[in-house]
Amino acid sequence: MVQNEVLDYGPLLDKTPVVRVLLVNDKQEAQLAISGCYQITGSLTNIIDQGQGLQKCIISVNNGGINIGNKRYKNSELRITSQRDGEIELNNIRYRGEIRIMQQFNNKFSVIEEIDLESFIGGVLGSEMPPSWDEDALRAQAVTARTYAMYKKKVRRDEVYHLDMLELAYKGVAGETARLNRIVQETKGVVMVYNWNIFPAYFHSTCGGHTEDINHVFGRDSIPPLSGVSCNYCNNSKHSNWSTDISKAAIETKLREANIFVSNISTVTAINPGAGDHGSKVSITSANGSKELNANDFRLLVGPNYLFSTAFHSRSNGKNITFSGKGWGHGVGLCQYGAQAMAQKGFQWTAILKHYYPKIELVRVY
Ligand SMILES: [Zn+2]
Repeated sequence: MVQNEVLDYGPLLDKTPVVRVLLVNDKQEAQLAISGCYQITGSLTNIIDQGQGLQKCIISVNNGGINIGNKRYKNSELRITSQRDGEIELNNIRYRGEIRIMQQFNNKFSVIEEIDLESFIGGVLGSEMPPSWDEDALRAQAVTARTYAMYKKKVRRDEVYHLDMLELAYKGVAGETARLNRIVQETKGVVMVYNWNIFPAYFHSTCGGHTEDINHVFGRDSIPPLSGVSCNYCNNSKHSNWSTDISKAAIETKLREANIFVSNISTVTAINPGAGDHGSKVSITSANGSKELNANDFRLLVGPNYLFSTAFHSRSNGKNITFSGKGWGHGVGLCQYGAQAMAQKGFQWTAILKHYYPKIELVRVY
């Protein structure tokens, strides 16, 4: 697709980058099945095993070797590559490409997928946004996720993996559809840059009226694309305004799991609201006195499907705290419901991105 708003200098990278995605970590067992031909190599490239299809079996690690079903490999690391259109199924989720099983301590292991960025974005797109949404909202989301993934690849280039599944929702091949693959293809290689730097293109479900500065929420250096903008578009989201009761005991349990000890909570107050009313900290008053925590950390500890955002007021309500707030998510970067409403009003994906990330350039890098 020709987009005169996308700077196209010809490819800056000679091929589609590969990203390393952490699928399983610190586990003693995982289920594996392979369709089609496959090859297994160790940390060197010589083939140590190959086959045609592998029935569902268990991966485990002991005495310095890796077991796959009833076969044992005396390697600290195995690389399994499915050939042609084969798929690798791990814990009932289907993936393309290549996985690496790497031993960790105490008979545990991690599994990392190596996948080309475009296929990965296809899988992310169907997980992060309803696949039926408008094409320009989906294109904006594809560029956002690609930019985020390229940023992580850059800053974690020397690490074992670039991305984990807490950062971007990803369901492997199951997230892909023909329509989504076409939409990804239409923005192939396009990322956002600010001052010719790639940046962490955060996004979230619903901002509730104004997005937040990255510094306010995550304490990281602010840049114009991540400094917050007004959003008059997401009021159709059911999380635009919400009210929910969460039991004090449940909050105390979740905090205890993170080694934060409070008992008999009386109040939870979001403090230092930003431009979108998201608190940067919360103050928790309890029998142990009052304690301040990073507000977004507190939201994630309680659970993002319970405490939808940190833009809340709250009151004690017997055994519960009643939280009333707006928005869903951390509030930084693209507001997904806002992007969908803009697309429905006829804005193109380039305009949507330039609204939520001011002062960016869109560049095709491969
Ligand atoms: Zn919004």
